[in-house]
Amino acid sequence: MLNFTINANRVEERIDRLAEIGKISATGVCRLALSPEDRQAVNVVKLWMEEAGMKARIDAFGNLIGRIEGLNPDAPSIMIGSHIDTQPYAGRFDGIVGVIGAIEAVQTFKERSIVPSVPIEVAAFCDEEGCRFNKGLFGVRGLLGQLEEGELERTDKNGITRRQALLEFGGEPEGFADSEYQPGQVGTFLELHIEQGPVLESLDCPVGIVTGISGPLWWTVDMYGFAGHAGSVPMGLRRDALVGASKVIVGLQAIASSQPEAPTVGTVGSLKVFPDSRNIIPEHVQFTVDLRDIDLSRRNKLEKQLRGLIDQAAQEHGLRVEIREDTNSEPRYCAPRILNTVREAAKEMKVAAPELMSGPFHDSLAMSYYCDYGMIFVRCKEGISHNPQEYASKEDIATGTELLYQTLLKMCQEG
Ligand SMILES: [Zn+2]
Repeated sequence: MLNFTINANRVEERIDRLAEIGKISATGVCRLALSPEDRQAVNVVKLWMEEAGMKARIDAFGNLIGRIEGLNPDAPSIMIGSHIDTQPYAGRFDGIVGVIGAIEAVQTFKERSIVPSVPIEVAAFCDEEGCRFNKGLFGVRGLLGQLEEGELERTDKNGITRRQALLEFGGEPEGFADSEYQPGQVGTFLELHIEQGPVLESLDCPVGIVTGISGPLWWTVDMYGFAGHAGSVPMGLRRDALVGASKVIVGLQAIASSQPEAPTVGTVGSLKVFPDSRNIIPEHVQFTVDLRDIDLSRRNKLEKQLRGLIDQAAQEHGLRVEIREDTNSEPRYCAPRILNTVREAAKEMKVAAPELMSGPFHDSLAMSYYCDYGMIFVRCKEGISHNPQEYASKEDIATGTELLYQTLLKMCQEG
């Protein structure tokens, strides 16, 4: 076991304590955003922030934000944190590790009587997951003035609006403007998070340094052929939309794997076949495409290849194609100066911390449009997440928390 400056037992105890709120099974948690359980968890975490020496408040968006002052109280703050809301069928670590780790880092400052050069803020952002109102990153986007029209009118499956849920939670829909941060108020955002993927485990490393969040390209593709009797239309005369779509699915697999050393991923996750009968040649197939890469120029090249492949499949099978682009986000790179600081801290800890991209998005994605950001990943078992089986070991979480603390310490010494 490494020698930790942070208190690994306290981190573990707090994670266990939080897992009791909204517990659905031995290791499962359901703590939907703005639910009574979410509020209960916020109350508990707020007390921990205060124990760590912070002034803590719940803002109009439902974010919980703690703060310790720095030697220069007017300098842009360093913000650390993540979220504590969960998916309906979740584990104990997603988001939680980042909030509890951040509090631990600040508490370690306090216990060692270290006063940071600049203010440090710890955030537990409201509704990162977005599963209740079908739109995530609510709190962090609110804080940064990035909310869209009509977000308060979105309803959950029981017809409750976000406005109502936010009011019951203790937020203040009328007070948004006062809670928004001004440009430059935060200079750096740092997030500790479980990887939610299998890369660190495959490399046998406890933690990793994120270089960026890959941008997803999302399409909905429609391929139209012509229906006919499955028993009578000869193979050469068919316009089978499903055969065309199948070629695209297999082709996407090949395109996304064409550079094995690259982190590119491509997925067709949804497929609808019309008229969906064993006795009819498929006339219309609709499917989704999800293509991600940290390198936008490479992703653009692969997109071109994929478009070529779709045209070819359409031509071969006499199909008409429509491609609708649902999302086209650019990758968001972590700031080189932050990467360097995390690298140095890991080196001094003698911890191998490989560099990897994040496929999923996080609160960091919204922060990336506002200030420099960095992320530290903690290995999780078999990459399982959004599942009660999600697991990260006490030692790995402590290593990630220590790396967060050491990085913060360096940043505060940089002045
Ligand atoms: Zn998360």
